[in-house]
Amino acid sequence: MGLDPLGLELESYSVPEVTEELRQQTGPAYRLNASTASGKMKIQSPSKSSSSEVLEEARALGDKVVLSKTDTSVVALALDLSKEGKTPVIVSDDYAVQNVAEALKLNYQSLATLGIRQKFNWVLYCPACFKQYSNDETQDCPVCGTKLKRKPIDKEAARQRSS
Ligand SMILES: [Zn+2]
Repeated sequence: MGLDPLGLELESYSVPEVTEELRQQTGPAYRLNASTASGKMKIQSPSKSSSSEVLEEARALGDKVVLSKTDTSVVALALDLSKEGKTPVIVSDDYAVQNVAEALKLNYQSLATLGIRQKFNWVLYCPACFKQYSNDETQDCPVCGTKLKRKPIDKEAARQRSS
């Protein structure tokens, strides 16, 4: 839908089906190629077990939730990543995708609001010494001088920190 993955500061993933769908469209296909070439976006197929979990969940939600093969793969890949301990955010404006994501307790974000940074709870961290910083005061780690990176706060960790 015109998302430019190069503009994202996060590790991003997509599925082979998306590459296939974009082959006909030069703009998005070009951006996808540039992103995969730069290593910013990884193309990965979901596991069979996650795919069937997603299909079962969609079925349980009823007739209104119909997932395309591509959508199923996107949600299943997110499920795989969350099983690996990552905190994926699915980018989709599709109602069915959002419903299934919610049922599977996966985070999602519609494309329209992706540019709004406040939608995520961000934390700055140092990739070298792993110290975390909570605001945008500094670009470089005050301890070791490494350029800080940004990641969404893991909800579990956020709760533990505040208690
Ligand atoms: Zn540091």
